[in-house]
Amino acid sequence: MYTCGPTVHDFAHIGNFRAYVFEDLLRRTLKYFSFTVTQVMNLTDVDDKTIRKSRAQGLSLNDYTRTYKDAFFQDRDALRIEHAEVYPAATDHVPEMVELIQKLIEKGHTYESEGSLYFRISSFPDYGRLANVKAEGLLAGARVDSDEYEKEDVRDFALWKAWTPEDGGVFWETPLGKGRPGWHIECSAMSHKYLGSHFDIHTGGVDNIFPHHENEIAQSVCGYGGKFVNTWLHCAHLVINGEKMSKSLHNFYTLRDITQVGFSPRVVRYFLLSAHYRTPLNLVYDPSTGNAESFESARSALERIDEFRSKLNELKKHAAAGDIQSREVGEMLDKSERSFRTALGNDLDISGALGALFGLIKEANRMLAAGEVTTSDAQVIDDKLVSWDRVLGVLEPDIAPAIDAARIEGLIAARNAARAAKDFARSDAIRKQLDAEGIVLQDTPGGTKWKKK
Ligand code: AMP
Ligand code: ZN
Repeated sequence: MYTCGPTVHDFAHIGNFRAYVFEDLLRRTLKYFSFTVTQVMNLTDVDDKTIRKSRAQGLSLNDYTRTYKDAFFQDRDALRIEHAEVYPAATDHVPEMVELIQKLIEKGHTYESEGSLYFRISSFPDYGRLANVKAEGLLAGARVDSDEYEKEDVRDFALWKAWTPEDGGVFWETPLGKGRPGWHIECSAMSHKYLGSHFDIHTGGVDNIFPHHENEIAQSVCGYGGKFVNTWLHCAHLVINGEKMSKSLHNFYTLRDITQVGFSPRVVRYFLLSAHYRTPLNLVYDPSTGNAESFESARSALERIDEFRSKLNELKKHAAAGDIQSREVGEMLDKSERSFRTALGNDLDISGALGALFGLIKEANRMLAAGEVTTSDAQVIDDKLVSWDRVLGVLEPDIAPAIDAARIEGLIAARNAARAAKDFARSDAIRKQLDAEGIVLQDTPGGTKWKKK
């Protein structure tokens, strides 16, 4: 399974995490159904945005993107997203991309203009099938240079971009010339390297369908030949006030924004998980009025689960001799398991799966009130919840991430070194990163001190 990962130009927002939580649900469900999963998630650490922003801050591309790679992995862990098997970074795979572009050149799918190389989409008759866009009538030679563009701009797209002064120190000297890859080529080259030319599943958000996935198909099918992907799955967006949450619309919240107002990552995970992946998920949240309906209802759903489990735990403490498991409870669990599996197997019907969970809680609560649940019943019911949690990942309380003091001291030393070298962009970036992790720095005459916010 190949999942398009973050462009590490800023902190990921919870809209991005809707996509990653959906992919996590898919991964966990496949494992629950006994499939073996090999998941690859790329890190886009070179593109128009990362270059522009790193230059604006006077940082090398690597120094700039490192902050956001680290932050992404921290948020992923806080949201209990299982680790993919491989997280390849684009900047580590330029030779593989060059090799693929060379194949495309040999097979006649490219042309050059002012040192850059473009994919000629008229050379691939199936272009547009995934996104249902028409490429006929396209003006010969009409092309786009930017990494992201809209459907109205169906054009030949850049595979390799010749160096321009705006790229500063970001370039690779390759047989294709001095320059850098376009965005789309990385996913074709890296999926091929780790999964081969033909693999099962490719995912992303719906905004990835065009142009990114359409271009990936064109590159992979034309370059490597044969079938590319068996199944594409795309999640609908997290929306706020009817609009896609996105950096460019300035209507986004990061996980850190939400945890700072008192909702735990567990609550955010539950919220992101709770709607079917193909329906838009509406966020009702307005910090200016204190309206946090979405997170409050996620929190109260979790409280229902917690209360139920503490009742089971209470019962487990009072084991009586000769206590046996009742047939009713066994039957109820079998029925619940069937509903849970049927729902997930039906295109990841999460509402059905959560329905099975809360249905079980309701039924068991009734039996508890009637004194019909034995100690061993309580144990098997809780075992069932734990087993379902392999898919849901919401049962356990949040664990505050351990503070790695040595790492913080190391970053403080790097910041001091940057300040001594008058590299204030770097020293600010380090302070900003620590701040985002909840660590505040105080410069005192005796040196820099840190504390948890
Ligand atoms: P980016 O970092 O912009 O390349 O996006 C990373 C992933 O987040 C992609 O799979 C996007 O489709 C997805 N994404 C971006 N915005 C949203 C949103 N508002 N809701 C759901 N997924 C999103
Ligand atoms: Zn991709």
